[in-house]
Amino acid sequence: MQNKKELRTWLDKMELAHPLVIAGPCSAETEEQVLKIAHQLKNTDATVLRAGIWKPRTRPGNFEGVGALGLKWLQKAKEETGMLTTTEVANANHVDLALKHDVDILWIGARTTVSPFIVQEIADALRGTDKVVLIKNPVNPDLALWLGAVERFYTADVKNLGVIHRGFSTYEKTKYRNNPEWQIPIDLQNKFPDLPLILDPSHIAGRRDIIFDLCQTALDLNYDGMMVETHYDPDNAWSDAAQQITPTTLDQMTIDLRIRKKDG
Ligand code: PEP
Ligand code: MN
Repeated sequence: MQNKKELRTWLDKMELAHPLVIAGPCSAETEEQVLKIAHQLKNTDATVLRAGIWKPRTRPGNFEGVGALGLKWLQKAKEETGMLTTTEVANANHVDLALKHDVDILWIGARTTVSPFIVQEIADALRGTDKVVLIKNPVNPDLALWLGAVERFYTADVKNLGVIHRGFSTYEKTKYRNNPEWQIPIDLQNKFPDLPLILDPSHIAGRRDIIFDLCQTALDLNYDGMMVETHYDPDNAWSDAAQQITPTTLDQMTIDLRIRKKDG
């Protein structure tokens, strides 16, 4: 990757606040749910609405997402609130559908980043796009796989890139659902200093009571933003109920976080 400066420009060009706040439910459940959450978020620091519509679940038998139907709900939420939208894409067909429905930012999930063939398929489907693509770290603590995914997109001429740190799977008993292993994203940043780095505290924590501290640590480490799972009724969310926070809690959290400006 020669032109590292290029990697930062989308954040500036889109005039998104720094740090960038992406929020919204783990899963889009119903049209009403997506719209209600979007309206609750619209006057907070969150400028991008997230919602998973294709959900890669670790084990079968759980809710696997509403599918393409949810793209219409995201489109409506964008029209009604002016928020940008983002969803996970896990194959070339998802990419096609998301682009047709004007999703602003695509993200690559942790279970996809582990697979070079799928990453390459998605990168090829996006070849030359100026859409923003955010790449989550692979499930396992493997820096090379994460770097490799970034390189596959960059080589496919997808230049508006960023990475999301969502923690790493472990058999150790810890308070986290996925170990943060803070050094790994630092190592990645040392390779690509201008690649925006976003924290996903929700999947690191797996519980809502440590979301704030994780976000504070990320800001202290100069992360460029955060993606926080947010639902008006977290306990009854159809996926990842234990880790979601309400839009009101998110709003308070962004007020309370001590934000250290990049240049300050
Ligand atoms: C998600 O963001 O809801 C998700 C499935 O995340 P991950 O790919 O990090 O597990
Ligand atoms: Mn989730």
